[in-house]
Amino acid sequence: MRNTQATQLIFELSRPGRRATVLPPLDLPVPAASELLPAEQCATEPPQIPELAEGDVVRHFVNLSTLNMSVDTHFYPLGSCTMKYNPKRNERLASLPGFAAIHPLQSAESIPGLLQVLYELQEMLAEISGLPGVSLQPAAGAHGELTALMVAAAYFRDRDEPRRVVLTADSAHGTNPASAAMVGYQTRTVKSRSDGLVDIEDLKAKLDGNVAVFMLTNPYTLGLFDSQIREITSLVHQAGGLIYLDGANMNAILGIARPGDFGADLMHYNPHKTFSGPHGGGGPGAGPICVRDFLAPYLPQPIVVREGDEYRLQTGSPTSIGRVRSFFGNVGVLVRAYLYIRTYGGPGLKRVSEDAVLGANYLLSRVKHILDVPHGDRCMHEFVASAAKLKKRQGLSAMDLAKRILDFGFHAPTVYFPLVVDEAVMVEPTETESKETLDAFAEALFRITDEAADLAHNAPHTTRISRPDDVTASRRPVVRWVPEKGDH
Ligand SMILES: *Cc1c(COP(=O)(O)O)cnc(C)c1O
Repeated sequence: MRNTQATQLIFELSRPGRRATVLPPLDLPVPAASELLPAEQCATEPPQIPELAEGDVVRHFVNLSTLNMSVDTHFYPLGSCTMKYNPKRNERLASLPGFAAIHPLQSAESIPGLLQVLYELQEMLAEISGLPGVSLQPAAGAHGELTALMVAAAYFRDRDEPRRVVLTADSAHGTNPASAAMVGYQTRTVKSRSDGLVDIEDLKAKLDGNVAVFMLTNPYTLGLFDSQIREITSLVHQAGGLIYLDGANMNAILGIARPGDFGADLMHYNPHKTFSGPHGGGGPGAGPICVRDFLAPYLPQPIVVREGDEYRLQTGSPTSIGRVRSFFGNVGVLVRAYLYIRTYGGPGLKRVSEDAVLGANYLLSRVKHILDVPHGDRCMHEFVASAAKLKKRQGLSAMDLAKRILDFGFHAPTVYFPLVVDEAVMVEPTETESKETLDAFAEALFRITDEAADLAHNAPHTTRISRPDDVTASRRPVVRWVPEKGDH
């Protein structure tokens, strides 16, 4: 049975004169709009607002909300995104008035509690990364990349070293080269070897006095920790360059390895991935960055400092790159990260990573006989399988698998990323999933590979929209409803 409440736009459900509230007739004279505003600023027609009864409005939005998959309703193994469960307690505490009702323009003296939380978060992020300089300002991981590269550029400018190039790995997230280009760097790609690790010979060939930064994600997007990391970082340092660590995969190494210890000079965190900030739908996120001591003078300002028992905002470093965001950053997400880290503590965070890695390895070992995993039998917190053989043998592409798995009540894994794997299916279960959930997911994949390929080609069969035209949807998105004549 079609659920019309959820399949029609609220504008289409509108009927002239329907109301959610009934107000008594106005007993005051109403001046004409033209008496209050210049005529050219007055609308000539009333705004086209849907007219509905209260019950219809409630049903419309409640039904819409059930069309979505979310971490709270479904297993969500979206590789690279770390869709971990967001503890409800953190949501509740972050919405306390002392956090949520602060006015952005309130004076620093009137918010000592918030400043203490932000200061302690800076300290915790520095400890986890092994890098002492912290800025909480950037609004997302990609913004953290941009900010850190601006810090690196300011550092080289100060040293009169006009380095023009940023190296990125071929398995890198697209934001890496994009951030470098936005700061004005030329980008060069360093190749991976067939086992997925950085090709050191290719790195050497591309490394010269013109290289400012090598951006890498370790563990890589392929779910591999590069055991050559010390060699890589010392090669780059010998050439006078800096190492940027894309921290999106920190969930695999919390309390186990510190980027500062393995040679990174700058990094970002994605608290909405690693520290259970909610994410999806474009935000909000946060992208705090950590840097080595000699780069700290270039960080955005203000930063929170402690003097005795007092916390205050420090500004005034003449070498700072300035502000990259209004106020203190995305405080709501930062508070959740603080709560998450405080709740687990050091040993607990280590356990988070151990369980994330264990879960991913368990799933990898359960599915690898049907789904090739080109980069080995072991992984970190995620793995990248390839549907290339399935496609050849049974006509099942990565897209078919991703679409059909929705019918089994699972969110799809990431597909066609990273680009270095043909028909990539990237799975990241996260530490909060039980063995039963992982087993059910593996068994759903087995069933899909057993059933007639047609079922997958036309999947999903159970969702409101099945196979949108992806290309048209992104090239010519229709994001605004325009009434047809006579609709209203
Ligand atoms: C998610 C991600 C980013 C970008 O982070 P945002 O917070 O989405 O801006 C960068 N690199 C990697 C590897 C990622 O997974």
